[in-house]
Parts: sequence; structure tokens; C-alpha cells
Amino acid sequence: MDCIFCKIIKGEIPSEKVYEDDDMIMIKDIAPQAKLHFLAIPKKHFADVTEMTEEDVSLVGRMLKTIGGLSKKLGLEGGFRLVSNKGADAMQSVPHLHIHVLGGEKMSDKMC
Ligand code: 5GP
Ligand code: ZN
Repeated sequence: MDCIFCKIIKGEIPSEKVYEDDDMIMIKDIAPQAKLHFLAIPKKHFADVTEMTEEDVSLVGRMLKTIGGLSKKLGLEGGFRLVSNKGADAMQSVPHLHIHVLGGEKMSDKMC
């Protein structure tokens, strides 16, 4: 499959990995939109939240807990924002579900 994130997971495309377990990797975004900008990416390929199966419910739940558990270590003790884009209106550019983790600075009170 010609998917950038699957290639990053397999190590075929280099990335700055900050965390990995059986469920997911976390990498630095190549074009950060906040002082700290990570991507939490499940190792299982599915396009977005509309393609989640029942099994993926617990996977994504574990991912959220892992992000929370890592937050201090990643410098996000002041808080952070989670975003997961789906589709053209949201400007999703990589059709492999991922959760943007943004922080390290005071962000706008406007979501977009
Ligand atoms: P989306 O627009 O789909 O919600 O987010 C995709 C994100 O992936 C973007 O923020 C973009 O900067 C990031 N990205 C795209 N290609 C790469 C890459 O090769 N490496 C890394 N680290 N991030 C990437
Ligand atoms: Zn993929």
C-alpha cells in the first residue's frame, strides 16, 4: 500500500520517533504547527474515524491513554490539544488515521 505513514511505521521513510509500542508510534510532525507537534499513529492502517471497527475502539482508547501518560515527558505539562482530521473539509492530507498532539505554548482559543 502506498501510504506514507505505513512506510514510516516500517522504517522505510525516516522519522523522529519519540515513542513506540505494539499499538502505535509517535513522531514529530515534519511541518510543526505549534512549538511542539507530534503525530500519534496506529500501526494498523485505517483511513480515519469513520473506518473504525469495534476492535479499533479499544485501540484508539489505549492510544489516548498513552498520549496522556507521555505528555509530561514530551514537554506538554502546560496542556495540549488533540486533533484528528477526516476528509477534504478538514484538509486531511494523509489517509491513515492519526492524532495530532499540539502544545508547548499557549494556543489560540479559536479551534480553526
Ligand atoms: P493531516 O493533514 O492528514 O491531518 O496531517 C498529516 C500530517 O502529516 C501533516 O501535519 C504533515 O506535516 C505530516 N507529515 C506528512 N508527511 C510527513 C512525513 O513524511 N514525516 C512526518 N514526520 N510528518 C509528515
Ligand atoms: Zn497506512
